[in-house]
Amino acid sequence: MKGERTWNQHVVKKENKSLVLKTIIQSSPLSRAEIANITGLNKGTVSSLVHDLIEEKFIFESGPGTSSGGRRPVMLLFNETAGYSIGINIGVNYLLGILTDLNGDICLEKQMKMDVQSFPIIKDQLFSMIRELIEAAPKSPYGVVGIGIGVPGTVSKDGKVLLAPNLNWKNIDLQSVLEEKYNIPIIIENEANAGAYGEKKFGAGKESEHLIYVSVGIGIGVGMILNGKLYKGNNGFSGELGHMSINVSGDLCRCGNEGCWELYASEQALIQQAKKLNILPVDDQDVSLESLMELAEKGNKDAIHLFERIGNYLGVGVNNIVNIFNPQEVVIGNRMASTEKWIEASLTKQLAERIQSFQEQGLQIKFSKLSSYAAALGVAAFSSENFLQK
Ligand SMILES: [Zn+2]
Repeated sequence: MKGERTWNQHVVKKENKSLVLKTIIQSSPLSRAEIANITGLNKGTVSSLVHDLIEEKFIFESGPGTSSGGRRPVMLLFNETAGYSIGINIGVNYLLGILTDLNGDICLEKQMKMDVQSFPIIKDQLFSMIRELIEAAPKSPYGVVGIGIGVPGTVSKDGKVLLAPNLNWKNIDLQSVLEEKYNIPIIIENEANAGAYGEKKFGAGKESEHLIYVSVGIGIGVGMILNGKLYKGNNGFSGELGHMSINVSGDLCRCGNEGCWELYASEQALIQQAKKLNILPVDDQDVSLESLMELAEKGNKDAIHLFERIGNYLGVGVNNIVNIFNPQEVVIGNRMASTEKWIEASLTKQLAERIQSFQEQGLQIKFSKLSSYAAALGVAAFSSENFLQK
C-alpha cells in the first residue's frame, strides 16, 4: 500500500511539473503567483516545481516584471535552448533537414536533391544529413532530443513506412533503422500530417480549429486539423486524398486505382504534361517546377497554361475537400505553394464555379508561406513536445 501511495505521488508530481512547464512555454514570462493562478496549484507546490525546473535547466529566472504594487516578482522564462530537435522532410525529389531549438526556431537547414529514390541510397543521404545536423547543434544541457522524419506515404503507428508509391517504398521499417543507428527518440510521420501540424503551430493556420493542409509535391497528401487536433484516423492512414478518383475512367495510378487526383494536380502531373507538349527547348532533364516557373515568368503561353491547368484540377479536389470537412481554412502547401502566382486564379475560379454557396461562409483558401518547411517544422515540433512531455 505504501509503495502504491509513493508511486501515485510520483505520478501526480510529474503531471504537475509538466503542467507548470507547459504553462510557462505557452505564456511566459510569468511569475510564480501567476502560474499558481493559471494552473490552480497552490503556491508552495508551484515554488517547489519551479525550483526543480530551474535545476533541470528547462526554465530560468529573469529580472523583475511589472507589479501592481509592493515588491516586484521575479519572472520565469522557458529555456528554449535546453535542447535541439531535428526535423527532416523526405520530399520525393528533395531532402530538407532542419535543426530547431525547443521553440521551433530554425538554427540550421540542409537541402539535398534526390535523383534516385531507392531506400539504401536515401538512407545514406539521411544518415549524412542527420550527422551534419547533430554536429552543428550548439552545446546544451540535453543535446539533440529527438529526430522526426516526414515521409510521403502511409506510416504505421510503430513508424513503418507501409507504402510510399512515389518513392517506390513498401514495408520499410524506417523507425527501427534509425533507432539502431542513433540513441535518440525517433518519430516517423506522414509528411502531410506533419505539414498540417507545422502550419497550425507556425504558419498560416495558427488561428484555425478546422484546417486542411494539402501538400502538393510530386504526389498529393492531405493533413487534417479537426477541432484543433491532428486527425489521423483509426490506424493513422487518413488523408490519402491524392488517391481520390476525380476521373472515373482516368489513367492508372501507382496506387492501383484509376483517375487519382495527384495524376492531374501534382508537380509530377505538371512535369509530365510539359514533357508531352515538348514545350521546353532544352532536353527533358531540365524540365522542373523551377524551369517551368522561369518560362512562365518570361511570358511563355504554354507554361502559363500548364500552371492554370494544375490550378483547375486543384480547385476540383479542394471543392471535394470542402464538401467533406466544411473547414475554416484550406492551405495549399509543399513545393506547389511557390507557384501561387500562376495557379491561384484558376484554382479560385474553378472552386467558385463548383462550391455550394453556404460552404463559402468563413472559408479561406491560403497558400503556405512555409512551403516545404511546414512538414520539417511539424516533425521537429513532434520531437520537442515528445521530449518535454517526458
Ligand atoms: Zn492513386
